[in-house]
Amino acid sequence: MVPRVIFGRGSFNQLSDLLSPNRLNRNAPFIFLVDDVFKTNASIASKIPLAYDDKIIYVSTEEEPKTAQVDILVEDIILTSKERPSGIIGIGGGSILDLAKAIAIMLTNEGKSEDYQGWDLVKNKAVYHVGIPTISGTGAEVSRTTVLTGPERKLGINSDFTPFDQVVLDPELTKGVPNDQWFYTGMDCFIHCVESLNGTYLNAFSKSYGDMAYSLCKEIYLEDTLTKKDAQDKLMMASWHGGMSIAYSQVGVAHAMSYGLSYLLGIKHGIGNCIVFNHLEEFYPKDVALFKQMLSKHSIILPKNICANLGDKDFEIMINISLSLEPLWENAIGKNWKKIITPKKLKQLYLKM
Ligand code: NAD
Ligand code: ZN
Repeated sequence: MVPRVIFGRGSFNQLSDLLSPNRLNRNAPFIFLVDDVFKTNASIASKIPLAYDDKIIYVSTEEEPKTAQVDILVEDIILTSKERPSGIIGIGGGSILDLAKAIAIMLTNEGKSEDYQGWDLVKNKAVYHVGIPTISGTGAEVSRTTVLTGPERKLGINSDFTPFDQVVLDPELTKGVPNDQWFYTGMDCFIHCVESLNGTYLNAFSKSYGDMAYSLCKEIYLEDTLTKKDAQDKLMMASWHGGMSIAYSQVGVAHAMSYGLSYLLGIKHGIGNCIVFNHLEEFYPKDVALFKQMLSKHSIILPKNICANLGDKDFEIMINISLSLEPLWENAIGKNWKKIITPKKLKQLYLKM
């Protein structure tokens, strides 16, 4: 679990107080990894407390994090810092939070980041790392994984050293999020809850978090009772609880299939989950119906026929990526999932999307 978290509008202003006790010495900088959407945003960029050799690295989130990208950033940080950094601070959405976690790990572990994709392969404690989300939904701020696309697979580095040492939850930071992105990333949270609450891995610990996040999502996306600020505050908490829920259970069909879309077509996580979930009535009937209401209430039009021009080889790649995520299928369907989820079945589903 994340050992330290602060919540509140304006809590970003306390960053300097949070960081200073963790500075190792003047030669060991804090490295701020920031979504480049904030390069020109004075309300965030100007509040980053820089001292000594501290550095901001702006990163584009045009594409989701890659193992090679992590390795290049780590190399660059090592070459340009006098000493190993005091800490890595990620400011952005799931993409930046995952990059920050992966860099913190790779600063203290040898080799390439692709070597650590999987479960519990990390040997050494990571550099101190702080997560500051600027968009809510993924739960990356609380999770035990950092999802990376490598040469062979899209898979997280799941380890006890992955979670942040400190998280700052300041809902004010989410105010500039475009409407469609707010929907897609928020739906990632809704889908986390649905997949966790309907999975065979569910337990009371996971369920209590999942229930909370699920009802917050319904309130935010289906009712008209909340002010904009309340909705921002609540979605930030939903993201946290949804992340906690899947950390102690597992995700399901939408995630397993959207990883295939992401790997082959580069479709991003939030929208990819929405595209898939929209066609999963047979697995999650009640919640797909709710999801369709949310789509229509917020006038979101999802892309269609994205698999129409794919060849056999393409389907094979997507289907293999998806089927390789065995724990997700086992959670969604049960121990005998291979009887139901065949390559033919997945191709039929992909063709609907
Ligand atoms: P993102 O980080 O890719 O950001 C989406 C877009 O929103 C970007 O264009 C970004 O610039 C913009 N944005 C972010 N904050 C903004 C703000 N305040 N104002 C204006 N624009 C803003 O999107 P995401 O959906 O948060 O994250 C997706 C990533 O998270 C994927 O790489 C996925 O694999 C990962 N993920 C990780 C976990 C985990 O547990 N580690 C869980 C789910 C998803
Ligand atoms: Zn997700």
